Amino acid sequence: MKMDSRLIRQILFVTGVFFVLFMLAASVDRLTISWRGVAASTAIGLLMGFVLWKYKEAVEEQTAVLAQRNTLLEEQISAQENAARILRHIAEGTAQATGSDFFMLLTRHMASALDVDYVLVGQVMGEKRDAIRTLSFWEKSGHASNFVYDLEGTPCGMVVGQELCYYPERVSELFPEDVSLTAMQVACYMGIPIFDANGQALGLMAVLHSRPLSEEYVPIAQSMLRIFAARAGVEMERQRHAAELEMRVEARTQELAAANEQLQELDLLKSKFVSDVSHEFRTPIATLKLYLDLLANNDPEKLARYRQVMQAQVDRLERLIEDILDLSQMEAESLNISFMPVDLNDIAEQVALTLRPQALENGLELTFDPDPALPTVLGQTDRLAQVVTNLVANAINYTPSGQVGVKTYREDDGRIAYLQVRDTGVGINPEEQPCLFNRFFRGERTRRLDKPGTGLGLAIVKEIVERHSGWVEVESEIDKGSTFLVCLPVVKDGRAAAIN
Ligand code: ADP
Repeated sequence: MKMDSRLIRQILFVTGVFFVLFMLAASVDRLTISWRGVAASTAIGLLMGFVLWKYKEAVEEQTAVLAQRNTLLEEQISAQENAARILRHIAEGTAQATGSDFFMLLTRHMASALDVDYVLVGQVMGEKRDAIRTLSFWEKSGHASNFVYDLEGTPCGMVVGQELCYYPERVSELFPEDVSLTAMQVACYMGIPIFDANGQALGLMAVLHSRPLSEEYVPIAQSMLRIFAARAGVEMERQRHAAELEMRVEARTQELAAANEQLQELDLLKSKFVSDVSHEFRTPIATLKLYLDLLANNDPEKLARYRQVMQAQVDRLERLIEDILDLSQMEAESLNISFMPVDLNDIAEQVALTLRPQALENGLELTFDPDPALPTVLGQTDRLAQVVTNLVANAINYTPSGQVGVKTYREDDGRIAYLQVRDTGVGINPEEQPCLFNRFFRGERTRRLDKPGTGLGLAIVKEIVERHSGWVEVESEIDKGSTFLVCLPVVKDGRAAAIN
């Protein structure tokens, strides 16, 4: 407690005033001035002065406290204004942007608003998610190229997937392994993790500076990082979804393109089929027309011959129509075929019995050698009978002399049942073998033999066998004969065995 001279003067003044007042009162009331009276007035004056002095001191103390509060409030208001200005600055700067533009603008505005040397936004990458690929990196006065770095030993490693970290100074000493910090002459680091909506780590945002941030900027920088890390997370997720969507669209487009290509191929095949069918019909019809004209000549001697040719052409037309109907019927039923366990031996025996007279008529021996332990296959009896019939009919047709042998057997592991039709006929040119199963294909040699046929028999065989999840193989040698082998999966536990 220290009394200044002004205060002492004030106390003396008040004491004097009281003394004069006392003296005046004494003279007015003609009182006798006693020393006691003088002492009492002086004491009252002193007391009043002391009270005044105390009061003034309290007022001054209060004023000082209020002034201090005022300064604090002013500081807070200025900090908030600063924060609002920075927030507005960054928000306005990035509001319209998306994708990489957003990250570029974010780092640029963040660096200028917080007045720091470096700002980066990065995305976690790698199988172990232990590296960062920058999406934007602001370096002092411009954007630097993006780069990838390992998280280990870096301050960013303490941030990703965790929480906001702030190293006010000497960060390069704290993370000596991170040599880039020294190279960049960074002293202060503040980083915040970025998460997706499910809380999965997406990346981070960090500000780095050569000096510690000024005290008033630290809370502002933290708030800014928090606000914009959330916005950056949304943008990263948006980008990820956009990329996924793009991939899905791309895959779907490819599927559609493939389907379209397939449809075009099918369309071409259909057109070819129609033109082949028309072509195949044209020959017998033209022959029939010619012979009808010849019939008009009414030559009785040639009548029998004409009838024979016409009958052959009608038969050919009939076979063609039957085969074409077979094929189109198979296409129509393709979606709902019902397969049953069937015995290939029964089917092959039945066909052999039916066609044996025809073989004998051609001077051929037709044998059947069944495997008594042949497992059943899943299939349609009628269609499989058609397969065996077409193969045996061909063998008889294209074998001038010798034998036709039908045989069944199974693979050692019992997964496949085989049906073999072997003949000692004309054989097939090696270069023709890949085309044998094409619709309307007829071999050069067999055409020269003038054998009746439609070129659809083997196409039907292939179609049926493939619908039974099997396949057909052929081996042939000119003038020695041909062997056709039908391979079908056998039934196991009521289902066809899987074939690799
Ligand atoms: P098609 O017998 O009615 O001509 P296929 O589709 O059954 O029609 O046969 C196509 C062609 O394959 C035949 O024209 C023939 O050239 C050849 N071919 C089929 N089977 C035999 C066989 N066992 N021996 C020789 N050639 C054959």
